Amino acid sequence: MIPLCIPNIEGNEWKYIKECLDTNWVSSAGSYVDLFEERFNEYLKIETSVVTMNGTAAITLALQTLGIGPRDEVIVPSMTFIASVNPIKYVGAEPVFVDITKDTWVMDVEKVEELITKNTKAIIPVHTYGNVVDMEPLLEIAKKYNLFVIEDATEALGSEYRTKNGVWHKAGTLGDFGTFSFNGNKLITTGAGGMLVTNNGKAGEKAKYLSNQAKTILSNGSMIHEEIGYNYRMPNLLAAMGVAQLEKIKEYIKAKTRNVSLYKEYLQGIEGIQLPTEKGNVKHVHWLYSVLINKDYGINRDGLLERLNKSGIESRPFFQPIHAMTPYMECKKGRMEVTCEISHKGVNLPSSVSLKNEEIEYICGYIKKYKKELVNNKKAGEKK
Ligand SMILES: *Cc1c(COP(=O)(O)O)cnc(C)c1O
Repeated sequence: MIPLCIPNIEGNEWKYIKECLDTNWVSSAGSYVDLFEERFNEYLKIETSVVTMNGTAAITLALQTLGIGPRDEVIVPSMTFIASVNPIKYVGAEPVFVDITKDTWVMDVEKVEELITKNTKAIIPVHTYGNVVDMEPLLEIAKKYNLFVIEDATEALGSEYRTKNGVWHKAGTLGDFGTFSFNGNKLITTGAGGMLVTNNGKAGEKAKYLSNQAKTILSNGSMIHEEIGYNYRMPNLLAAMGVAQLEKIKEYIKAKTRNVSLYKEYLQGIEGIQLPTEKGNVKHVHWLYSVLINKDYGINRDGLLERLNKSGIESRPFFQPIHAMTPYMECKKGRMEVTCEISHKGVNLPSSVSLKNEEIEYICGYIKKYKKELVNNKKAGEKK
């Protein structure tokens, strides 16, 4: 079986975790927590990073720090993982779904403005599969209507976006907040974990405070709480793993980039297989390398998925539109035709850092061979 996306654990993970165990610093007061946040700041070139127990908590914390709550509306895409949307409900606010674009498969910024009402408080662009939303025009809209921007950059750790002035920015660093996840299938993993980042020092401080029970320690050691806080802390054991993983991130991105160029080479020219487009102002890490299956491939997306998975090539359909799921069916939304089309055509192909050349060749060869089979069957059918 060629897995969809598995972690790569070949660095200092054992060493750092052992150190936590040997020194008894297993919980969230250990030094790896601070170190992980510092290293994350350095990597993203951002002012403040706050570790959390998972990516869902990071998004929730962003909304809570901004004071978003009942009656507030938050604009978010529908074709994303559910964790981009559930936190909006956790704080009592309402998601408003926006369509994606045909070529980037991420938020269609041109369709955002028409969804803004007097209740709109924030926008959550999601950098799905590693591509980056067109942030500059989105930030202009946010500024015009005084809205917060929380980037769900979970799938785009390492991706970059170039602003008009020619400067490259890491995904997640352009909004008021950016959020990341270190679940086992992401680019770097701590088993479970997340990070909230911001260039607003005050907001970062507030987020850290809320994430740790809104605790103030008096000089005599007693704790007081002026607000209702939360426990989103990450234990030192996991932060130690995060530090080790982050040491390898450049290697991981290199491997992903190599995977992408091989996929491109081998899949080029197969009728009905539509490769992802790359914009000049985005460096796309392709967290999951994905393609669309168009009509002229000869069989629909689900037909191909079934064959791939049966043949030991673990592949996955794109995210189902959330606006059509039970808890969200009544929510406000814009036109969703692109979301519906793309989510039913898309396939995520194996994308692990450890994927071998031969495996990519095998996967693409399979897709090509199956296409030939379909064409031949069709011809045979026509002759009869
Ligand atoms: C993985 C993921 C998250 C958060 O996941 P956790 O499992 O809570 O760490 C959020 N948004 C997107 C788009 C994701 O893919």
